[in-house]
Amino acid sequence: MTTLRDPLIRPLGRRTSDVFESVLGLRTVGDLLRHYPRRYYTRGELTGLAGLRENDHVTVLARVAQVRLVPMRGPNWRQPKGRPLRPNERAEVIVTDGTAILTLTFFAKAAYHVRQLQPGTLGLFAGTVSAFRGRRQLVHPEYELLPDAYEDHRITAELAAEYATELIPIYPASAKLSSWAISRSIQVILDTLDAGEDPLPEDIRQKYRLWPRETAIRAIHRPHDRQDLDHARKRLKWDEAFVMQAALAQRRLAAAAMPAVPRPPVPDGIAAAFDASLPFTLTEGQRLVGEVITRDLSCAYPMHRLLQGEVGSGKTVVAVRAMLQVVDAGGQAALLAPTEVLAQQHYRSITQLLGPLASAGQLGGAEQATRVALLTGSTGRAARRSALSDVFTGDAGILIGTHALLENSVQFADLGLVVIDEQHRFGVEQRDALREKGSGARPHVLVMTATPIPRTVAMTVFGDLEVSTLAELPVGRLPVVTHVVPAAERPRYLERAWERIREEVAAGRQAYVVCPRIGGEMPGADAEGESVAAEDIGDASARDSTGADESALDGDAYLFGGEAADGAAGADFASRRPPLAVLDVAPELAEGPLSGLRVGIMHGRLSPDEKDQVMTVFADGGIDVLVATTVIEVGVDVPNATTMVIMDAERFGVSQLHQLRGRIGRGEAAGLCLLVTEAPEGSPSRDRVDGIAATSDGFRLSRLDLQQRREGDVLGAAQAGRHSSLKMLRLLSDEELIAFAREEASALIAADPQLTGHAALSQAIDDMLGPQRAEFLDKA
Ligand code: ADP
Ligand code: MG
Repeated sequence: MTTLRDPLIRPLGRRTSDVFESVLGLRTVGDLLRHYPRRYYTRGELTGLAGLRENDHVTVLARVAQVRLVPMRGPNWRQPKGRPLRPNERAEVIVTDGTAILTLTFFAKAAYHVRQLQPGTLGLFAGTVSAFRGRRQLVHPEYELLPDAYEDHRITAELAAEYATELIPIYPASAKLSSWAISRSIQVILDTLDAGEDPLPEDIRQKYRLWPRETAIRAIHRPHDRQDLDHARKRLKWDEAFVMQAALAQRRLAAAAMPAVPRPPVPDGIAAAFDASLPFTLTEGQRLVGEVITRDLSCAYPMHRLLQGEVGSGKTVVAVRAMLQVVDAGGQAALLAPTEVLAQQHYRSITQLLGPLASAGQLGGAEQATRVALLTGSTGRAARRSALSDVFTGDAGILIGTHALLENSVQFADLGLVVIDEQHRFGVEQRDALREKGSGARPHVLVMTATPIPRTVAMTVFGDLEVSTLAELPVGRLPVVTHVVPAAERPRYLERAWERIREEVAAGRQAYVVCPRIGGEMPGADAEGESVAAEDIGDASARDSTGADESALDGDAYLFGGEAADGAAGADFASRRPPLAVLDVAPELAEGPLSGLRVGIMHGRLSPDEKDQVMTVFADGGIDVLVATTVIEVGVDVPNATTMVIMDAERFGVSQLHQLRGRIGRGEAAGLCLLVTEAPEGSPSRDRVDGIAATSDGFRLSRLDLQQRREGDVLGAAQAGRHSSLKMLRLLSDEELIAFAREEASALIAADPQLTGHAALSQAIDDMLGPQRAEFLDKA
């Protein structure tokens, strides 16, 4: 009898199991059985060679009759420079099914294919039929080699069972481990498999008409028909979704068991005074989310809420209202910003919004007033000392800052709420570090992000956070208009872009020009390797604080801000030159198309003081055009800046571009964003840039973004120990299933938190989380 937890060596022996481990990284029987077929060939769908028509997508079963290397004229474009000239050749393979012949042509790896496809070999060949000099052919077909037994009249007894099934599974394979070999090993295992107790309770299976697990496992590898496959897939997706959601539900429960100090609202406190003083009416969304947060904060267990809302949707006001409620209840709030610039800006705009309410103890301070302190890496010694003291005594109700807030020297009198702005820049570690600062009880946590997250991603990646969304923009906001400027094809458009900036400046407005690189000499970074991401993540951390390093920041770069993946954007379009740099572009513009305008620069290598100074001058209108890196990506708010030109736009990720353009269109005038790119039409890079220009709907963009990444990547960074947990489930297309699974899993965990009555499920969770299980629950 074979069980899912058995090591592969038991049923397969050392030699085979070693190959599985080294080639596919599979160790246990369960691992191998979760190595699902990539697709299935239906024998019925096989086309006879005589019936082939041009442009048909076909799969044919045929035998190799002839194979040869054909020399080709002309230079070999694959020839690596400086190597001795090799003849350029293609492989030509003629196959037959006994009724007709077909040519297969391979231009790449010709010699390899010749070795594979020796005369007499039987295989399945799939591709699109084309014609060459009157002969039908498949160019670069996919193929699977089959043992001889597959031919009708030579079925051996050993393969009879296999042959009887309609669908031939094709596994993700490699040169060292063919689909065929995988299939054989799986058969060996299925013959003795006992998959054990089903982790999914009977009543849930009944309710959703789900097959027992073992039936599904068998059917996915040996389906009799398509219907079998549908059932099997549905069931196996449920397995993944349900086990994961059960783990998350346990984690939520553990978090809810932590004590927190309730911070209920008071009727005539500073929060009420603030509401009365607001220069605008709250949007419906702000009001509703506010009510939810008010309720959360009144509970005796910690709030974990993710507030997502488009750039400019007014998240800050929501956060301020929450912080004031906590201050009213005698606690303190900390607002953690990802960059120096943003912390400064929050400080300015929040003290301004609060007015006299932020001046406790000063002349003109309001009666219920509190104090707002600022603490960043560049805060001077005296200011730092007074901020620390105000926070320690509790005189400061609100502390705004960067990573500097995490230092040990920062001690709160009574930290009740932590607000984290632009979550994707922070790692889990930082979240935890701040939580620790609560004295005994845990503080409530509000995380804000402008990068919208599809519902199921939120449920999966942020399974422990409740999600609120601000869907609308405040009235009077005009959407940003975005155009692509194809600089290579239409240089005239680029000239026009600079003219537009001149016109805007003439009308009293300001503009940004964004470049992917800083430029100049930078130790340790050669020009081409220096990516946006490295540069500006470095900026946010290294300059700014003591405790944080780049990897910590990267830790939670799980999603659309996932800089590593973003940095790889544009890989398909290899531009010959290094990306444009601020230090080159700024003088060129100032002396050329933008001469006479006041051009400033902003990037991560400026000192925090310099950065702050530039931002202040820009905000005051002392700079017309700011040439910058993505340092301005997050949260910078200068309503008078209406135009943004992004150079080498294909070098940025989807979410970065969306964030960047959110910097304009923050005032009454409509924003204009021009995406300059040399990526040729039709390249994936260009498609992406076009896609961003075509919609301003952040949710659609985040889906676009997600589609371009492997889901494993998305989950991998965020969920320890789960890099391989999603095999079958698709976060985007399986939304409904995930939602149901979440509902059922939550109910089950609520009724049986320790899973004492659900041993199989408990074991499945263990298997999924692996050794990180304890840590996973701990991080709650
Ligand atoms: P984000 O969600 O991008 O962080 P902010 O909180 O910075 O957005 O808000 C953007 C701007 O909109 C700020 O200047 C803010 O004062 C303003 N604002 C916020 N709420 C409203 C509202 N209800 N009506 C009008 N303006 C608002
Ligand atoms: Mg903001």
